[in-house]
Amino acid sequence: MERTLSIIKPDGVAKNVIGEVVKRFETNGIKIVAMKMIQLSKHQAQGFYAVHKERPFFNSLTNFMTSGPIVVMVLEGEDVIAKNRELMGATNFKEAKEGTIRREYATDIEKNVVHGSDAPETAAFEIKYFFNDLEIQNR
Ligand code: GDP
Repeated sequence: MERTLSIIKPDGVAKNVIGEVVKRFETNGIKIVAMKMIQLSKHQAQGFYAVHKERPFFNSLTNFMTSGPIVVMVLEGEDVIAKNRELMGATNFKEAKEGTIRREYATDIEKNVVHGSDAPETAAFEIKYFFNDLEIQNR
């Protein structure tokens, strides 16, 4: 069993697609074992995206991520890191496969509706960034 962090970004929450995203996880055999809605401060967004701090879009990305509430979730399942990335689609929605979350709902390379950890090490860091052990259920 593997765990990963999923975020429905401010654009996804604003578009009222929380349910659509959650439904894709649940219908694809992925369990949600933690979930909350929060709004990040600039400092918190910068800490989360610290690996991108040298990228030209860092300031814009961290502003966007603080622009409204987000839904953070811990997902659990077999091979869930890769499975979630598959359901999300490519970073650039124009390159995302038909039927993926980003292809369906994203409008911009930055405003691409969802985040998903890309490897076991990043998943461990990202889950801890938002949740303590007591907030994650064993279902
Ligand atoms: P991800 O793992 O698919 O989310 O992609 P990355 O880790 O490469 O980038 C993190 C996030 O930064 C993406 O999900 C986008 O929201 C944003 N992003 C990536 N590339 C660009 C870009 O070229 N321009 C802007 N403005 N944002 C970007």
